[in-house]
Amino acid sequence: MLEFEEALARVLAAVPAPTHENVSLNEAAGRVLAERIRSPLDLPSFDNSAMDGYALRAADVASAKPDSPVRLRLAGKVPAGETFEGQVTAATCVRLFTGSPLPPGADAVVMQEETRVEPNTAGEVLVLAPIRPGENVRLRAEDVKQGSTLAEAGELLTAGRIGLLAAVGLPSVLAGRRPVVGLLATGSELQEPGQPLAPGRIYESNRIALAAVLKLAGAIPAAFPLVADVLVATRTALAEAFSQCDAVVTSGGVSVGEMDFIKHAFEQMGGELQFWKVAIKPGRPFAFGCYRGKLLFGLPGNPISALVTFLLLVRPALLRWQGASDVSLPVHAGVLAEALVNHGERRHFMRVKLDPAGRVRSAGKQASHVLSSMAAANGLVDVPPDTTLAAGAAVPVLRWD
Ligand code: AMP
Ligand code: MG
Repeated sequence: MLEFEEALARVLAAVPAPTHENVSLNEAAGRVLAERIRSPLDLPSFDNSAMDGYALRAADVASAKPDSPVRLRLAGKVPAGETFEGQVTAATCVRLFTGSPLPPGADAVVMQEETRVEPNTAGEVLVLAPIRPGENVRLRAEDVKQGSTLAEAGELLTAGRIGLLAAVGLPSVLAGRRPVVGLLATGSELQEPGQPLAPGRIYESNRIALAAVLKLAGAIPAAFPLVADVLVATRTALAEAFSQCDAVVTSGGVSVGEMDFIKHAFEQMGGELQFWKVAIKPGRPFAFGCYRGKLLFGLPGNPISALVTFLLLVRPALLRWQGASDVSLPVHAGVLAEALVNHGERRHFMRVKLDPAGRVRSAGKQASHVLSSMAAANGLVDVPPDTTLAAGAAVPVLRWD
């Protein structure tokens, strides 16, 4: 039985090198960037106003006060998107709006609220307060300098990064290709929804839950029909899924029972099993194999075992497949509001609920078939073997929601 880190290292080592494709920025959210991007321009590209107000020379209004305002001649108006032909000279000002280019000669913008325009003096503005040079001016390149690095290969394209790339005018980027991942659920007891349950049967739930986390990891799920606990049926289903997909995730049929056929069927079709069993709870009977440059992730059938092993061992592989440099689950610092107890001899990734104040509680019963506690959970806490983590202890919470 492998330790978790060893299992993860072996999975990541087997992931093929990422391939890239050109992706429109519109479609790039959640993708992994495959190139270093340098800015083709300065941001802002020109000095401009941060306010609705008047461009002026700060020295002209040094003495301005509400009861003795400084009178300036209004030399023009520049709506955002236009430019001013001319100079701001002594004792003049130019009407500006947020984003209007700063006219040459001006060194500051007084905000409209600190000015007054008197009814019969349309060509004049009274400035009520002094202002420092540079005030309310957004300087060229203060955000980004032309040629500087905006994003690195391996980074996730978040909304913020995509916004930045759009702001420098990029229409598309190179992103890691998303793997297509086949989802197979094995078990003769499994039933599709829509019909009342036959005696002894259960509704299948792993493909749905796994497809959801697959999408969050940027992969493309492809669900296949249910697979009965029959060796040839399992082999046929695996072969079909491998013919269509980059990787195959199965659930069920990887344990020690005589009705567990995944490993055997995979080897019969020419797959090479790399390892089986990882020293974690839930999810010990996890199987991993390679077949013609593609990967098999054989997850246990219990819904929580399937989901937790996916998050810990499959998600990182799918992210690495797309070229991501950081493949671990996001970690939030929390403090236990109650003890978490692991009497077992394997690490237990326990389902917890982290509240906004950082308090962490068990999300409910921890048995690997209990879905309600997974539904209530927003994270996992790694509790070492034979260990009680006491109330008040600081714990890292692995977020997956
Ligand atoms: P197995 O790993 O095949 O021994 O299955 C372990 C447990 O998980 C059994 O109680 C199965 O009925 C249940 N199970 C297996 N696959 C699924 C599935 N796709 N959806 C819901 N429960 C499942
Ligand atoms: Mg089964």
